[in-house]
Amino acid sequence: MVKDTKLYDALGVTAEASESEIKKAYRKLALKYHPDKNPNAGDQFKEISHAYEILSDPNKRETYDRFGEEGLNGNGMEGGMSAEDLFSHFFGGSGFGGGRRGQPSGPRRGKDTAYVLKVSLEELYKGKTSKLAFNKTVLCQKCDGKGGKDVKTCTTCNGQGIRVTLRQLGPMVQQIQQTCPDCQGDGNIIPEKNRCTACHGQKTKSERKIFEVHVDKGMKDGQKIVFNGEADQAPDTIPGDVVIVVEEKEHSYFKRKGDDLHYEAKIDLLTALAGGKFHIKHLDDRVLVVNILPGEVIKPGEIKSITGEGMPSYRHHHKGNLFVTFEIDFPPSNWTDPESIALLEKVLPPRPSLPPVKETDAEEVVLSSIDPAQQARAHRMDGMDDDDDMHGGQGGPGVQCAQQ
Ligand SMILES: [Zn+2]
Ligand SMILES: [Zn+2]
Repeated sequence: MVKDTKLYDALGVTAEASESEIKKAYRKLALKYHPDKNPNAGDQFKEISHAYEILSDPNKRETYDRFGEEGLNGNGMEGGMSAEDLFSHFFGGSGFGGGRRGQPSGPRRGKDTAYVLKVSLEELYKGKTSKLAFNKTVLCQKCDGKGGKDVKTCTTCNGQGIRVTLRQLGPMVQQIQQTCPDCQGDGNIIPEKNRCTACHGQKTKSERKIFEVHVDKGMKDGQKIVFNGEADQAPDTIPGDVVIVVEEKEHSYFKRKGDDLHYEAKIDLLTALAGGKFHIKHLDDRVLVVNILPGEVIKPGEIKSITGEGMPSYRHHHKGNLFVTFEIDFPPSNWTDPESIALLEKVLPPRPSLPPVKETDAEEVVLSSIDPAQQARAHRMDGMDDDDDMHGGQGGPGVQCAQQ
């Protein structure tokens, strides 16, 4: 027994109606009384939406059944959805934007268009604005995308745009679906004389459009810059987005990892042992004069960092770090005379003493040089040349120029 049937009556169902019956009834009436379709229906759309809002919610429906509408007052009903909101919620679109006849769904959404924008690391460091010109399909303004006056539904295909024909193939009948030849799949026909003179009945035109693309500081490879609704226009379609995908170009001597930069510096042995300076040309054309302080010893393959000299962090006010991996340029063989070597022996830490070997076991050997290919292989086995393959500083503008 329910207290009141007013809301059920509004939807034309009984108090015993199932959830799906209520949904079906609302759907039918909402389409009939939607203000876009039936401007003279007055408050009827609001009423049925109100009824549906309550009866579709099991808790509210129970309250209503037991106490009538009074029972619902003060239960947060004021904050509920508006009739329009409910409608779009229910049908997943907004009103009758031009879906096919008899289908209450909203207009179709067009495809997104994606473009790749190649950007250098310098540009990602400093940020930049690019102007990109694209050809874009837009609705003809003269005919408002209708193609002309007096547009008629194609009678060959009943506006479907496709034609189904049956073909006898021996004992079988084959069904062939093809684009309607009379309307070219459009569904509409515009008599020649009524065709829009600007677009010749095509409804759309191609237009050159310039997009100002702001590549912000610190943007990353693969990041997207979206222009909402700027993709190609088509009749009865919500245009998709133009999506610009940032592609970071490889840099000649910096490697980027997140907000950090990696650089390979080659310094001479004296600088590595006794200190000195070398230069790194940064992405904004500054030259970092890097000091190796006297007393600091740099070993081959050692990694040091320069704080705050990495990439700017996207939409943050800090910067990553610059990591420097050192390669030490040793002097060639026979680089100096025995007297100088004797001096070195005085200066450098002494050679470690070797463990004793029985004279009969000892066999004296010498080293021979190997060819470069062998050397590379040996290096790889040694783990010296890892996947990162950083060959920065060699010959690039950031090459070291160590001095006393
Ligand atoms: Zn047709
Ligand atoms: Zn036109």
